[in-house]
Amino acid sequence: MSGASLLELREVSRRYVGREGPLGLRRTAVQAVQGISLGLGAGQTLGLVGESGCGKSTLGRLAVALERPDGGEVRYRGAPLWPDLPSAFRREVQMVFQDPYSSLNPRLSIGRIVREGLDVHGIGDAASRRERVAEVLGLVGLPPGHAARYPHEFSGGQRQRVAIARCLALEPKLIVCDEPVSALDVSIQAQIVNLLRDLQERMGLAYLFISHDLSVVGAICDAVAVMYLGRLMELAPRGQLFKEPLHPYTQTLLSAVPVPDPARARQRIRLAGEPPSPYAPPAGCPFHPRCPRAFAPCPGEFPAWREAAPGRFVSCHLY
Ligand code: ADP
Ligand code: MG
Repeated sequence: MSGASLLELREVSRRYVGREGPLGLRRTAVQAVQGISLGLGAGQTLGLVGESGCGKSTLGRLAVALERPDGGEVRYRGAPLWPDLPSAFRREVQMVFQDPYSSLNPRLSIGRIVREGLDVHGIGDAASRRERVAEVLGLVGLPPGHAARYPHEFSGGQRQRVAIARCLALEPKLIVCDEPVSALDVSIQAQIVNLLRDLQERMGLAYLFISHDLSVVGAICDAVAVMYLGRLMELAPRGQLFKEPLHPYTQTLLSAVPVPDPARARQRIRLAGEPPSPYAPPAGCPFHPRCPRAFAPCPGEFPAWREAAPGRFVSCHLY
């Protein structure tokens, strides 16, 4: 990824302590994110993929400073997010959530929802805010006349457009999109992905695009990061990752992605065993009990994060 980073994660970790058992008496810890380093340049899209529970949303919340890391550091334009946010961070870095039904306040009109950030940040006067709301609704393909309507009058896809408009009102530089299309019908997913790509071209936005679905990520991202149980397994430019995935876990994910040409279809790799519990992750490489290529060193030690080829990073003892 580009050296001149907009967003940079250095060895970032986040652990949660919860309670388990019949009366909640047993304390349990989950290492949701462990030792992750990533960079994202201005105007770029980095995809983050992995199965449910692997820590993607936690990483997204760390990136927008909704969570504080308990190890490592997140930087925006070179400045650490903690203890004090860099100026303009709250305006320039926005987030779109997975569920467009719970992420919009049902009591507020669409216009109010989109305008709220302008009010909070004291941007413009009443007239210019109204104008800006109409403008961004237009940008996301909603009639500006809809500003007076309420969320329940909109479909899931339209609500996600509203959520995107709310971000755009603030002229962001980076939007963290946490599974923005996962709750939508397949036919609507492509429309939202196309809208995001369109907006990126027009406005030079950067995205951290989170999805459990590698084919969705493939439709929008310049580079792809693959997570498994809190760890980063592989990071590569999109084309290279799809053409020649290095990590056996990435190979497994990719083998499940449908391809249009049946002659080029991959043999689907079926994983051995159940996904391990995040409360008791396997020692060494957490993927080793299910890995078709596991060998002697894998249960012993987590493999170092290394550059296997120019621009291609992997954590695997094979490399
Ligand atoms: P993903 O988005 O990839 O599904 P998450 O980041 O939501 O993964 O969760 C990663 C792990 O951290 C899971 O095991 C989850 O149960 C746990 N976790 C996430 N948020 C919390 C929290 N606020 N409290 C306790 N555990 C959490
Ligand atoms: Mg999630």
